[in-house]
Amino acid sequence: MRLILLGPPGAGKGTQAQRLVAKHGIVQLSTGDMLRAAVKAGSPVGLQVKDIMERGELCPDDIVVAIIAERIAQPDAKNGFILDGFPRTVHQAEALERMLRDKGLGLDGVVELRVDEGALLRRIESRIKETLARGEPLRKDDDPEVLKTRLEAYRHQTAPLIDHYREKGLLRVVDGMRPIDEVTEAINWIFSRPSTKPDSPRKTQVKTAKLALPARSKRKATAGTRKAKSAVTSGRTKTARKPAARKA
Ligand code: AMP
Repeated sequence: MRLILLGPPGAGKGTQAQRLVAKHGIVQLSTGDMLRAAVKAGSPVGLQVKDIMERGELCPDDIVVAIIAERIAQPDAKNGFILDGFPRTVHQAEALERMLRDKGLGLDGVVELRVDEGALLRRIESRIKETLARGEPLRKDDDPEVLKTRLEAYRHQTAPLIDHYREKGLLRVVDGMRPIDEVTEAINWIFSRPSTKPDSPRKTQVKTAKLALPARSKRKATAGTRKAKSAVTSGRTKTARKPAARKA
């Protein structure tokens, strides 16, 4: 399985990626973690990106693309991977597509964790408090001012990927404001149904319709499945919190 988790900083991509890793035995590839490791090691790449990361801006495409190309060529990525924090620009997405195509591979899907920006700020603030309470050092970009820059970068440079993947029929939207377990269930539900694996915009439309189950099927669904389904929106929905199951 090869999938992308898309969402602004603080949306819970890292947490969900770790859970998917445990469930599916695939690797999590976080460009943020790789770049932080490079900074810590003081490598040439680390020295190049240190200040950029501290300001909350995006690192140059060629650097992150090279890091990912090298990483997905490693043996542990053969079974599949979850990309967390990559791609972040359309240019990176196109580079990834070329990389995978050259290996005869494709993506199984792109999950957008859709969240409310005000809530993100509160999440980051509580993450700062928790980190300090544990006596651990703060990430330099765990700062409300830097977060604003990171959100700007997301809005302007990364959010266009939502349309990019929607047009390819790969996008699935999950309500990231739900409790962590419900978000996990929703993601698992999406990928437990092979027939719903997105592959074309037209099919996405059909599958969206399928999410609106008839009343009888709804009754049969377990509470867990119901919650999972209602956390999934179609990728065509404009608002973050409106479950597609009700909308369609
Ligand atoms: P993250 O931990 O994913 O929030 O990433 C932390 C920081 O690393 C970001 O604010 C960027 O400065 C940098 N970064 C991580 N991934 C990318 C990427 N795909 N493209 C550009 N910069 C990135």
